[in-house]
Amino acid sequence: MTIALALHGGAGTLRRQDMSVEQEREYRVGLERALEAGHAVLRGGGSALDAVCACVCALEDDPLFNAGRGSVYNLDGKQEMEAAVMDGSRQDAGSAVGLACVQNPVLLARAVMEGTPHVTLGYAAAENFARSSGLAMQPPEYFHTDKRWQALILEKERLAMGGAEEDIPEDRKHGTVGAVALDAQGRLAAATSTGGRTAKWPGRIGDTPVIGAGTWADAHCAVSATGHGEYFVRAAAGHEISARVRYLGETLEQACDAVVRGQLLTMGGTGGVAAVDRHGRVALPFNCEGMYRAAIDGEGRRLVAIYADD
Ligand code: ASP
Repeated sequence: MTIALALHGGAGTLRRQDMSVEQEREYRVGLERALEAGHAVLRGGGSALDAVCACVCALEDDPLFNAGRGSVYNLDGKQEMEAAVMDGSRQDAGSAVGLACVQNPVLLARAVMEGTPHVTLGYAAAENFARSSGLAMQPPEYFHTDKRWQALILEKERLAMGGAEEDIPEDRKHGTVGAVALDAQGRLAAATSTGGRTAKWPGRIGDTPVIGAGTWADAHCAVSATGHGEYFVRAAAGHEISARVRYLGETLEQACDAVVRGQLLTMGGTGGVAAVDRHGRVALPFNCEGMYRAAIDGEGRRLVAIYADD
């Protein structure tokens, strides 16, 4: 009975020289906490779906990461969060977009999957459904962090001076949290949650809630992405990784590399993924400076890392 879990807290980290020892320690503690939350579920015989939700809730509640509390701001100075889950054992999925007051967007995505005839719900109707499902709601102050507000101000200044959307600095560029898991019954699941991109247009929807792009799970592998969402959507990145495993017979690592370091990079899309396959193999590739990440693979090997050379 193999169990495995991998998570990311977003690609595009601060550069090593700009990260204080204390900041780095806080990120590692946050990653460890989320890893333990998910792995405890798997060790206790729980489902991959429960494990990825536990992991992502821990990251959403941690203001360091761009999801739930601590989400980035859009051009109007509002937070619009989105999340998705996929249960590979049933090829079932749910997602929610345009959220401003749902404490744990990932739980709403799951409620959409389990409690509606639809895959995706958005905006006021999604929040009404969250309320009627009894999910915890929070006022805007709960989600606010000065760090994300400052990032919006800096980004708006940069754009006003003619800076290209593409050239947003790395640490302001990415963020998203996600987890993938294999449980003792061989089921795979993925969950992803994000505030999106700093200074995004109001109403913009990224790759996270698009099933097959930022979030995917089937009987072969589970994938959660972070990075420049528009590229992950155009590449159908999560599904593409699974298709390469299924149709080309590639290993998970080869498939992830081909998509993240090959296809996406060629298109100009930076970011990375957390992925796990049905054998408990884990892959955490990225094509930028760093990616907050952690895993315990099927052989019990543990990793908590930020930079490429960690
Ligand atoms: N993928 C997310 C988005 O485009 C953001 C990120 O992971 O950096 O909304």
